[in-house]
Amino acid sequence: MELPQKVKDKHPVFTDISELPGVGPATAEKLKEIGYSTIEALATATISELEAAGIGEKKAAELINLARESIEISWVTAKELASIKSNIGRLTTGSKALDALVGGGLETQSITEFFGEFGSGKSQICHQLAVNVQLPPEKGGLDGSALYIDTENTFRIERIEQMAKHLGLDFDRVSERIIFSEAYNSDHQMLLLDKADKIIKENNVKLIIIDSLTAHFRSEYAGREMLPERQQKLNKHMHKLLRLARAFNAVAVVTNQVMARPDEFFAPTAVSPVGGHIVGHTSHTRLFIRKTAGKNVRIVRLISSPYLPEGEVLIKITTNGVEDVEESDKERR
Ligand code: ADP
Ligand code: MG
Repeated sequence: MELPQKVKDKHPVFTDISELPGVGPATAEKLKEIGYSTIEALATATISELEAAGIGEKKAAELINLARESIEISWVTAKELASIKSNIGRLTTGSKALDALVGGGLETQSITEFFGEFGSGKSQICHQLAVNVQLPPEKGGLDGSALYIDTENTFRIERIEQMAKHLGLDFDRVSERIIFSEAYNSDHQMLLLDKADKIIKENNVKLIIIDSLTAHFRSEYAGREMLPERQQKLNKHMHKLLRLARAFNAVAVVTNQVMARPDEFFAPTAVSPVGGHIVGHTSHTRLFIRKTAGKNVRIVRLISSPYLPEGEVLIKITTNGVEDVEESDKERR
């Protein structure tokens, strides 16, 4: 985010942790260990997080403030706010109908959650977004790369190739701009995100994907007595994601597999997202995706958004990727 000149004049602007006064190699190393290797991320830290890493309270507060002053202004006029908001980018899903449902594409600086049953198309959408983010803004992209955390081993480079070719993009180049990692368990998944700030900055990452957000948590924290711990960890993970999305003006996308409740099988709301309320509250936009009788066609329903009405649209998942449903497809359903 570009700072107004008057702010630059008032405060020294730091661009690297090591430039901060009082940060020697030892403190820099401590900060890095707890996941703060960039100014952008440090600006989102809390004093207690730094204290836990052995940095005194006073120094922690100072460092966080300096980082904040370097990247943002706390108080702004409504006019300035409008200009900061105009920084919010939009990422196309590949379907004009779905883009319109969410107000013109997925928003940067917030989290979008796709939830639905197995095979509903959540991972397909993630693949498509990882390609689309590389497009220039006039084509609905963000001219950036994608950070892809795969927890279920469902990432397929062949799908990226098909989608890239369909968009007329060079597959080699596209695959270079998807930074991929597989999370082996929930702790590893959290660690990957905690250490992601440097990679995000260095690679101009504009999309962070966690597919799936909840699978590891669900299998490792089974049973009622584990629920509070699971929710607490998920909550922390989601907040870290949100802070990264804000600090780097990136889109954050998570997936969440839901099980239909057999007793209310046909009601579209009769599903239980794994994270329950925690995931629900931190995800700003929640989209429920489900299959239809038409084999390629999916229904995507906007369940909750901070400012948009509920609604639903049809999309198609084909070899080309995510597409709009044409009139002829609708008749065949
Ligand atoms: P989820 O992640 O929600 O469990 P996926 O995103 O893996 O589900 O979706 C799998 C579905 O995507 C398949 O059942 C199929 O309908 C569709 N799909 C996957 N690959 C292709 C392809 N190459 N061409 C057309 N459709 C595909
Ligand atoms: Mg999947």
